[in-house]
Formats: sequence, structure tokens, C-alpha cells
Amino acid sequence: MNQKGCIDVDTFQGACQCGAVKYSVAPGPARQTVCHCRMCQRATGNAFAPLMEVDNDRITWTGYAKTFRSSNIAERGFCDECGTPLFYRMIDRDTTEFMAGTIDTDIVFHPVENYGAESRLSWVFGLAAVAEQETVIPADQPIVSHQFDHGS
Ligand SMILES: [Zn+2]
Ligand SMILES: [Zn+2]
Repeated sequence: MNQKGCIDVDTFQGACQCGAVKYSVAPGPARQTVCHCRMCQRATGNAFAPLMEVDNDRITWTGYAKTFRSSNIAERGFCDECGTPLFYRMIDRDTTEFMAGTIDTDIVFHPVENYGAESRLSWVFGLAAVAEQETVIPADQPIVSHQFDHGS
């Protein structure tokens, strides 16, 4: 991978919610971006896709990610069991762009580009100024996660 904006990252792992699909990525260059395009919004059900692009030959898979050919230039991988969106992949590139929210490891994420800026939702700009509230877990009603790693 030889693209503008790459940084070297340590090994990292990730998975879907149910754990049927897991991946591990060997250390090396990565390109971190945020994509606001309309297709990423729909594919993630979210305002944007935070993406971590790495070479395919550094990835070790456990389980099988089903893919959807979302356009003539790209496919998107997801878990067929729990529906978690896992990656975006350009057909003519030997790289995979992981959805950063599926990464287990506490990684450094410094996006070098806001791609698809024409579709960036206006409310995204103001989020940093919105009041914060941590997750509330009542002592008598603990949340029992069915995700395999509880989001570590
Ligand atoms: Zn799954
Ligand atoms: Zn996109």
C-alpha cells in the first residue's frame, strides 16, 4: 500500500457483534479516513463510515464475511449471522477498509481525510459541543450484552 496519508500501526484485531467473523491484521501501514458518502451512510446505517485501510495480505480471517457488491467499483463485507458491517473494498485494489467501530484493540485513529464531503450531514459539525452523558446502567437492571467481547 503506497498512498498519501498512511501511518504505521501495530497489530490489531476486530470482529462482528456475534463473533462469527473475526480478523487480525499484522503491523504495517494503514490509511484512516472518514467517508460521508451517501452509499456509506446507507451501508452503515450511520452518518459516516470511519475506515481503516490495510493491505489484504496482512489480514487473517476467522469465519466468513458475506459481501454485497454495492457498486461497479466496490463490495462491502458483513456478518451473515448478526448483520454487522465489517468492511469496504475497492474491486481493483488489494486493500480492505475496515469499519473502525469493529476493531477490538484500542487503536489510534487519526483520519487524514473527510471523503464524500458533498454528503456530510450538517449536524455532524456540532456534535462536539453537545452535552455528554455516560451510559447509565441501573444496579438492579444490569445490561447483559450478547456481543461476544462486550466491546472491549
Ligand atoms: Zn456476527
Ligand atoms: Zn463512502
